[in-house]
Amino acid sequence: MADLRDALSVDLPEFEPGWVWLVGAGPGDPGLLTLHAVHGLRQADVIVYDALVDSSVLKLAGPNAALEYAGKRGGRPSPQQPDISNRLVTLARQKLRVLRLKGGDPFVFGRGGEEALTLTQNGIPYRVVPGITAGIGGLGYAGIPVTHRNINSAVTFVTGHAAHGDVPGDLDWAAIARGSPVIVIYMALRQMQAIAERLIAAGRSWSEPVAIVSKATTAQQQVVISDLANCAADAEVREIQPPVMVVVGQVVRLQSGLDWVGALAGRKLDPDPLGLEQKQKPVS
Ligand code: SAH
Repeated sequence: MADLRDALSVDLPEFEPGWVWLVGAGPGDPGLLTLHAVHGLRQADVIVYDALVDSSVLKLAGPNAALEYAGKRGGRPSPQQPDISNRLVTLARQKLRVLRLKGGDPFVFGRGGEEALTLTQNGIPYRVVPGITAGIGGLGYAGIPVTHRNINSAVTFVTGHAAHGDVPGDLDWAAIARGSPVIVIYMALRQMQAIAERLIAAGRSWSEPVAIVSKATTAQQQVVISDLANCAADAEVREIQPPVMVVVGQVVRLQSGLDWVGALAGRKLDPDPLGLEQKQKPVS
């Protein structure tokens, strides 16, 4: 296969032996990979990948690349984080080109910082290749912008799941409820009820719109539109499968007008999803 650099006449860096590239694989659709990611996948000697990496992304690996799985499988305990970081050091010291592939963006709830810090501490040279994070790009495929003029000037990204599995105790939910018109929640499926209750207790309306987006950007993408009072029950009734993004806020109302993936399957989009009856005429 032609080198991507020649094919596109862009200046992409050489993947040097003994280096680690910490690469974001995006939320699923391989079309959302960066050029750096594809270039790295083709050149890597070994690819250490996580559970959330879509198999279609792994197909872009060069023919000689070894694939190493570093996630949870079949109920067996997942490798401990220091084990994975140390493995990267070991592979790099063998003068291999090591590509560490993570779902979404490696620095967004992905523990990429911890792995990179281990590399720094061991004198291993590395490059970070950001990816499209599920909380922005995944919602884009669901037809939900994380900001919209006249709706919100701020958005908060939170995890619904602390290391021990509960709702993170160090989060000031009341402050988030008061201060952030749009709240994008990673890893929220199991704690949705508890989170919704905290937001309502802190003053958010029970009828505030919520979207639950499962397997965003993949062929199995599913979007459920609900509200704070009903989101957990709706997710259960619809048998929503992880990975799931949850977004709370008025931007969710735009979904009926912006669900371009739904439109591909025949959904008719609402030209005025916010009910503003804007005087804007369709462009003739
Ligand atoms: N680094 C990743 C996030 C890892 S945490 C990123 O930037 O996207 C794992 C969580 O990400 C999941 O529990 C889920 O909330 C979210 N997620 C990742 N991929 C997703 C997808 N395709 N659809 C919906 N949510 C996804």
